[in-house]
Amino acid sequence: MLTGRMMDFPLTITHLLERARTYFGRSEIVSRLPDKSLHRYTFTDFYRRTCKLAQALTRLGVKPGDRVASLCWNHSRHLELYFGVPAMGAVLHTLNLRLHPNDLAYIARHAEDRILVVDRSLLPLLEKFIASVPSVEHVIVIPDDGPAPEGRLDYEKLLAPEQDSFAFPTLEERSAAMLCYTSGTTGNPKGVLYSHRSCVLHTLVECMNDTLGVSESDTLLPVVPMFHAAAWGLPFSAVFAGSKVVFPGPHLDPQSILDLMVAERVTVAAGVPTIWLGILALMDQEPKRWDLRSVRSMVIGGAAAPPAMIEGFLHRHGLVVTHAWGMTEMNPVGTLARPRRQHENAPQAERLALRATQGYAVPFVEVRHVSDAGQVLPWDGETMGELEVRGPWVASSYYGGEGADRFTSDGWFKTGDVVTLDAEGYVRITDRSKDVIKSGGEWISSVALENALMAHPAVLEAAVFAAKDAKWDERPLAAVVFKPGQSASKEELAAHLEKSFVKWWLPDDYVFIPQIPRTSTGKFLKTKLREEYGEHLVKQQRQNG
Ligand code: ADP
Repeated sequence: MLTGRMMDFPLTITHLLERARTYFGRSEIVSRLPDKSLHRYTFTDFYRRTCKLAQALTRLGVKPGDRVASLCWNHSRHLELYFGVPAMGAVLHTLNLRLHPNDLAYIARHAEDRILVVDRSLLPLLEKFIASVPSVEHVIVIPDDGPAPEGRLDYEKLLAPEQDSFAFPTLEERSAAMLCYTSGTTGNPKGVLYSHRSCVLHTLVECMNDTLGVSESDTLLPVVPMFHAAAWGLPFSAVFAGSKVVFPGPHLDPQSILDLMVAERVTVAAGVPTIWLGILALMDQEPKRWDLRSVRSMVIGGAAAPPAMIEGFLHRHGLVVTHAWGMTEMNPVGTLARPRRQHENAPQAERLALRATQGYAVPFVEVRHVSDAGQVLPWDGETMGELEVRGPWVASSYYGGEGADRFTSDGWFKTGDVVTLDAEGYVRITDRSKDVIKSGGEWISSVALENALMAHPAVLEAAVFAAKDAKWDERPLAAVVFKPGQSASKEELAAHLEKSFVKWWLPDDYVFIPQIPRTSTGKFLKTKLREEYGEHLVKQQRQNG
């Protein structure tokens, strides 16, 4: 091999940080605090405080590779941890504040966190599990809603005496930067250890025009929590690009988000479908109240974005949704739905339908789908199989070695998502493999049925799941939440679905509930629905003799 003669310059988060200091010192970071007031400072302030943080953690004895955990909402001090911890060579481990204390204890023990940084407003949660995590030597309290209690380290007091410059070490690009855990809806949560290199490459691609196009002129609002798959990498992209960043803090209700988008002239906002369903419902009630002309894209992912919602935002409010698919196991963006040049003259309905797919793979991510027998399937838009991915920001194993069966012997990661792939590479998720409905040996797509139900004018949300059936093994059952003041009968819902599906796909029954149970990352918690209603059809059959 003739080796190229170019510098072996490491791809590290430190470079993103230094670049932000050099060129974008005047960019702003705005955070909403628990009392709803807005805190704002510049990238110059952010850089200085990040140096102070690295200095303070060094003084506390943090060494390269040590895990520093955060239990925080989205705000500027969390951003300081996002950069200060990896840039000093340690590893930021983001804890999900929506998990049960027992899960948090398990995860923090598994990660062997040495330091834990927590929002003061989340101390009651911390107290429920911290005693069972012996590895934690210091708890540092961020005084978000008042000073740290006696006997606890206060983040601000810790930073105050430190110098505002720091000699960040030269790091290997393959060294670990962040540790994120899956939420573990089945089995224990598993750790994914991102490297500096994987974060940097993901950042570069996220800033491409044909993906999210994050740029210096943007104002980014990550509604997606910084504890959920690194807030989809947006904190890294924003700092790298020099964008203005707006953090919502703990205020995630539709009105607070909309007010913030207007006040700060947000251009790109990102979050899970639940958040946006609530926002759309509110905007439909008061269409003229919020002036969102600054918004160029609303990034929606983490669960399937219903086509009716994408269409509602576009047609009723002129807002463009960018639907994205990703996983904690991949840093996390994998595919993104954008119509391409060849679709320029396609009818609007077709372009909208493309926006509702999970999209095609972003650069450096490769996809394929395989049958149960492991056979690679054709990209015909019809054949369903499990999606597999590979690329420089796809996990090669879990931290701790669990779940080895998710990694194939020929170098792919098994996502657990059941999909079709069409000739142009667009991925359509029909289910998560654990949520698949198998009726008489045939698959029924719960996602397709849910999307159709959510297009009914009276329906706010719907989840379709497998219920036991004496004859067919499993049959689809639908849980439906109506919009306030609206309703529809079972017959009306069935008639609505019949327009788009063959008869044997239609749910055998509908249950009307006030809320769909959710996972800690906002996905429908179908295990809970199955626990509660799994016997529903069998019971009905028994009653009917
Ligand atoms: P968890 O810890 O809940 O697994 P992740 O966010 O890593 O959290 O979950 C990844 C999964 O979320 C994917 O495998 C897929 O099933 C689902 N998902 C993510 N984005 C989308 C999307 N746009 N459409 C449908 N499903 C999605």
